[in-house]
Amino acid sequence: MNTFSPADFYFTFLEEGFCAHDIVEQRMKELSMSDDKDAFYVADLGDVLKKHLRWVRAMPRVTPFYAVKCNDSRAVVMTLASLGTGFDCASKTEIQLVQSLGVDPSRIIYANPCKQISHLKYASAHGVQMMTFDSEEELVKVARCHENAKLVLRITTDDSKAVHRLSVKFGATLKSCRRLLECARELGLDIIGVSFHVGSGCTDPETYTQAISDSRCVFDMGTELGYNMTLLDIGGGFPGSDDSRLKFEEFTAVINPALDKYFPADSEVRVIAEPGRYYVSSAYTLAVNIISKKVVMKEQSTCEDKDDGAKDRTLMYYVNDGIHGSFYLFLIEPAQALRNLHKKPKPDERTYPCSIWGPTCHGLDRIVEHCILPELQIGTSFSRSLLRGCAPPSKRRVPTACRRATTESSLVLLAKPRPARVL
Ligand SMILES: *Cc1c(COP(=O)(O)O)cnc(C)c1O
Repeated sequence: MNTFSPADFYFTFLEEGFCAHDIVEQRMKELSMSDDKDAFYVADLGDVLKKHLRWVRAMPRVTPFYAVKCNDSRAVVMTLASLGTGFDCASKTEIQLVQSLGVDPSRIIYANPCKQISHLKYASAHGVQMMTFDSEEELVKVARCHENAKLVLRITTDDSKAVHRLSVKFGATLKSCRRLLECARELGLDIIGVSFHVGSGCTDPETYTQAISDSRCVFDMGTELGYNMTLLDIGGGFPGSDDSRLKFEEFTAVINPALDKYFPADSEVRVIAEPGRYYVSSAYTLAVNIISKKVVMKEQSTCEDKDDGAKDRTLMYYVNDGIHGSFYLFLIEPAQALRNLHKKPKPDERTYPCSIWGPTCHGLDRIVEHCILPELQIGTSFSRSLLRGCAPPSKRRVPTACRRATTESSLVLLAKPRPARVL
């Protein structure tokens, strides 16, 4: 099944004291000798493991179901499968991927409220029972196409303070919940709980409190209508790196007491979550190469201030990955771009205003509109941790011989970025 040449990826174990960044540096050094300077990723699977331990410590009551859409690389999914997490799958392909790694269907929630019928049938045939919904239309489909669905009603949240709002697209309002619960009963369907998503890049932990309290209302409604409500799913939205405005623990410090208040431990409600970015954002580092460069002089620059001519220089850099590839999310959240650019100026080094562009001829293919950097030469590689956002490195498969990551040594995966998509 593995049809990719070994050159597309390889695994390395890091000695104690080394970090993934050392691998990036080493690889960039190796590539500097050759003409092959394709962009590449380094994924630190030890970082994924550390995130998991941090999760278990901070929110022991909540079982994570990793949102596969954030990064469907086999290495990541396999690492999490071996750590015992569950999985949030949004499609047949994601269910197939997770099940191909031996994950039991009881560890999967089909958390897409709007499902294609053939995918729903696939879930039914393969034992995946837990799934979310937010409309009557979906209930009718489920009643027709799934044998034993255990339904979870997704409600809206106030996601106005999130980077990526999700409640615009999904979620039932509190007002419509009773009608939906009644409709499900008429169709003979089983509802087991409630889910929500506060939006990706959530900046206000209180959003969780409100959503947990709203979930309690819907739980009570469900119980009143005769359902055995046993599952609360608090979704995703957790920060994936520590330079986000709030740390993960600042969220859990608010979520834990809200859970204890509305869903006390003795209420026998199972609490799960669907973290995506939380697990993968800081694990991935992308290195790109400057393939071309342009110096632009400001027009009003006159001969008089010749000495200061450098002030009027703006540099345009063209690199070999862009918005059609790894940077596709930068189209919608450009402000965060390259915050952590790994090219710090030396103390007395001159810096210039720059823009950074992707490799295609598409005018929108701009990664950074404005940043300040020392002058870089064509052929230079630089890297950045993918602080935010999903970083699907490629559609390629990575070898199944992934060894279990341990805390002592970190397993690192090198992979090529996914090929540019043609719009
Ligand atoms: C995208 C998504 C997630 C993951 O969101 P993060 O903000 O990355 O944690 C979880 N659940 C659902 C239903 C999603 O669509």
